[in-house]
Amino acid sequence: MTTAVQDIDLCVIGGGISGLALAAFASKHLSVCVLEKNSTVGGILQSTTLGSAVFDEAANGWLDSEPSVADLIDLIGCTSDITPANTDRATRFLFHHKTLHPLSPKLLMQASPLLSWLQKLRALRELVWSPTPINEPSMAEFMRRRFGEGVIDNFLAPMCAGIYADAPENISLRAAFPNLWNMATQGSILRQLFSRLRDKTRKHPHLTSLKMGTHQLCQNITTHLRQCGHSVLTDTPATHITYDNGWIIQTPNGNFRARSLALTCPAPAQTHLLDTVHPSIAMELSRIQYSPVAVVLQTFAKDDFTNPPSGFGALLSRSEQQSGLLGILFSSHLYPHRCPSDTIMTRSILGGSIAPEIVSTSDEHLQSLALQGHREAFDCPNLSPTNVRTIRWHRAIPRYSIGHWALQERIRTFHNTNPLIRLSGNHLFGVAVKDCIRIGYEHAQHFIHTVPPKS
Ligand SMILES: Cc1cc2nc3c(=O)[nH]c(=O)nc-3n(C[C@H](O)[C@H](O)[C@H](O)COP(=O)(O)OP(=O)(O)OC[C@H]3O[C@@H](n4cnc5c(N)ncnc54)[C@H](O)[C@@H]3O)c2cc1C
Repeated sequence: MTTAVQDIDLCVIGGGISGLALAAFASKHLSVCVLEKNSTVGGILQSTTLGSAVFDEAANGWLDSEPSVADLIDLIGCTSDITPANTDRATRFLFHHKTLHPLSPKLLMQASPLLSWLQKLRALRELVWSPTPINEPSMAEFMRRRFGEGVIDNFLAPMCAGIYADAPENISLRAAFPNLWNMATQGSILRQLFSRLRDKTRKHPHLTSLKMGTHQLCQNITTHLRQCGHSVLTDTPATHITYDNGWIIQTPNGNFRARSLALTCPAPAQTHLLDTVHPSIAMELSRIQYSPVAVVLQTFAKDDFTNPPSGFGALLSRSEQQSGLLGILFSSHLYPHRCPSDTIMTRSILGGSIAPEIVSTSDEHLQSLALQGHREAFDCPNLSPTNVRTIRWHRAIPRYSIGHWALQERIRTFHNTNPLIRLSGNHLFGVAVKDCIRIGYEHAQHFIHTVPPKS
């Protein structure tokens, strides 16, 4: 039985990166307790070993464009463990018609089987034709109008599958890609992208992780919090919350009393906890759905490849996604120190809302789909893995469907009228690790200014 912490400044429910980052930032000024349902912290951010290779089970890093990420890593004292992904040949590929095609910004100007000249001309028209965006369009609807039908299947569908494991027809541009939306409101997206590419002083976001994988970030935050006298309690699910001159959080390990509360657990858990205290917000959260994803981790002998994978990875064009395989990440190229030099590590992503049913099929089926993709992409018909493991995330990535932007607005309004509670997590204001950390920073600042520590 864990000792119950009484009368803390801030209770954080959920020990994924959203909750841990928030707790770490707030812990400089407030007494904090993190409650985590599982026996390990990190939520989706888990890393594992397969043979002597270190794999990430879900996210394989974060983009270094968000200042709060560097602040967090500095705060927990692991700056020396920052590992940028290999910058040598950082090409991304598109797997289309059984061939890997390198993607480059020059694609619009060159001959390429991915877009006809007519489709390129239609896309380039965006340079001079930039209508005002409508209120909350889907990604497909908006891009079709701006760039023409040609870009949907070979560019937009792979990009949406790679980030949201969903189809562009189902994704709200405004909620899911706020930066793109902002560019859209300012005029031609292409013109802004080209000017960014020409700007030599501009630092382009780079994929980054820690030496031992993304889980190390969560472990190190937990160690830091505990060393500073705060609590991170695993195997401690919050089961009920009430408000009575402070928040009372019930768990099987005892009750906790906190002056402020952050809910960072997934939408269904937030729905359950808010059901009696804020039923209308609970109802809103209950509508959020998730895409399931399977991740197949594989190692191969390098010598078995004629051309070993080089670059960040490959996404699949819409016609190739029919099998259920959405992408292959070249993990040993990204982070070469995580396996022996004679080994190739890859991670295949399958399912999503594009083929949700295959996530529940057998390991053998998922592994054979992933292997078939490798054999075709690398033109190695006899390729076989030396080690393989399948990870399933039944609630992998929240769906930012049409209406999600309006939901975000209602959550902001709820926050304005309820200063002692904050809702976050990857289902609300961004799925990327860097977004979870940024929101954690913002909410921590809010609590620091709203909940003065006890003298
Ligand atoms: C396959 C895959 C690949 C990805 N790749 C990338 C990538 O390359 N880059 C990137 O930036 N992002 C990536 N992401 C997204 C990113 O990993 C997640 O969005 C992020 O880690 C989610 O963090 P979170 O804390 O919001 O949620 P979670 O990690 O889901 O954490 C929520 C926590 O709440 C806990 N909890 C639930 N109920 C309760 C309760 N009642 N009481 C207490 N605790 C509770 C859960 O156990 C969990 O630990 C990827 C995701 C997946 C699935």
